[in-house]
Amino acid sequence: MQSIFYERASDPAHALRLAQQPGSKFIGGGTNLLDLMKGGVEQPMRLVDITHVGLALVSELPDGGLRIGALTRNSDLADHALIRQRYPLLSQALLSGASPQLRNMATVGGNLMQRTRCPYFTDTGFDMCNKRMPGSGCAAREGYSRTHAILGASNACIAVNPSDMNVALAALDAVVLISGPQGERRIALADFHRLPGNTPQQDTVLAPGELITAVDLPPSPFAAHSHYLKVRDRASYAFALVSVAAALEMRNGVISQARIVLGGVAHKPWRVPAAETMLAGQPFSRELARQAAARAIAGAQAYKDNQFKIELAQRAIVSAMASALHNAGENA
Ligand SMILES: Cc1cc2nc3c(=O)[nH]c(=O)nc-3n(C[C@H](O)[C@H](O)[C@H](O)COP(=O)(O)OP(=O)(O)OC[C@H]3O[C@@H](n4cnc5c(N)ncnc54)[C@H](O)[C@@H]3O)c2cc1C
Repeated sequence: MQSIFYERASDPAHALRLAQQPGSKFIGGGTNLLDLMKGGVEQPMRLVDITHVGLALVSELPDGGLRIGALTRNSDLADHALIRQRYPLLSQALLSGASPQLRNMATVGGNLMQRTRCPYFTDTGFDMCNKRMPGSGCAAREGYSRTHAILGASNACIAVNPSDMNVALAALDAVVLISGPQGERRIALADFHRLPGNTPQQDTVLAPGELITAVDLPPSPFAAHSHYLKVRDRASYAFALVSVAAALEMRNGVISQARIVLGGVAHKPWRVPAAETMLAGQPFSRELARQAAARAIAGAQAYKDNQFKIELAQRAIVSAMASALHNAGENA
């Protein structure tokens, strides 16, 4: 049996100091990390509890945006009055994830960092997984691939990022705030998660020992016309096969700007700016949405069991866009 040291940090600087010890990992709600530890996938020597560092706040920024502390629980964030009013897309995405009990524990930082649900990664009974054991191969490529990537995958890994929250944050142009031994940095959400390439063991650009302190949301023009659509095997308590965050800014019946981000299809939230550009300056029509959807999944490659995702992703985009308009009572 392996011993684990547990320490509770009192503030972010204390957390950073504690995390400089080799083999340390931060623990937020523990809903992902503890599962992976029980399964032998993660084996930290030291847990640094960050739930009492004072980062569970949502505050207004001078530009009209919001700062979300990294230890804010998913349920508190989804129900926060300013989130519901200004960023309903984020609230919807959060409420579509996991279960009320899990959302009561899960934190924003932990959700950003949650690991893939690829069964070849989470089950140490499989001896091929480049994400878990670099250089061992990818069992999913020849194995059961129903839930896997159709975009941005590599020979080394076809796993997907499982988060709902991340998809909405990508559509809302969120920025991740990070503290580390070298100081502070800010990374656009779109650049925070990585494609697998030859190093699928690295899910994000966060360096060891760095702490996510907050997520900033700029003021959003999308509150009136946005929709998060999650397609899954069960109506609740299931990860997305495909999800879509659709956000439209409408002026006089014309789309002035759009965000379309896919979840469940790649190693990171999948956003194609060219698809969004196609929509700008046009009135909504299902034909236009279909064209944008085709552009959004350009280059998609299916594996043995997930061909259906290519059509599903396109239909989900059209449907999510129509719902985004419908949410505000406009005729879609
Ligand atoms: C049964 C089940 C169903 C689920 N269904 C869904 C779903 O449908 N949709 C969905 O999106 N999610 C789902 N989840 C995942 C859930 O959302 C995540 O487990 C949760 O968000 C992780 O947050 P946490 O605070 O518990 O993270 P933890 O488990 O505490 O940590 C996860 C990782 O993040 C790191 N970390 C945590 N905070 C920070 C920080 N501030 N800075 C740096 N690193 C940090 C930890 O070191 C660890 O590596 C499900 C989980 C379970 C168990």
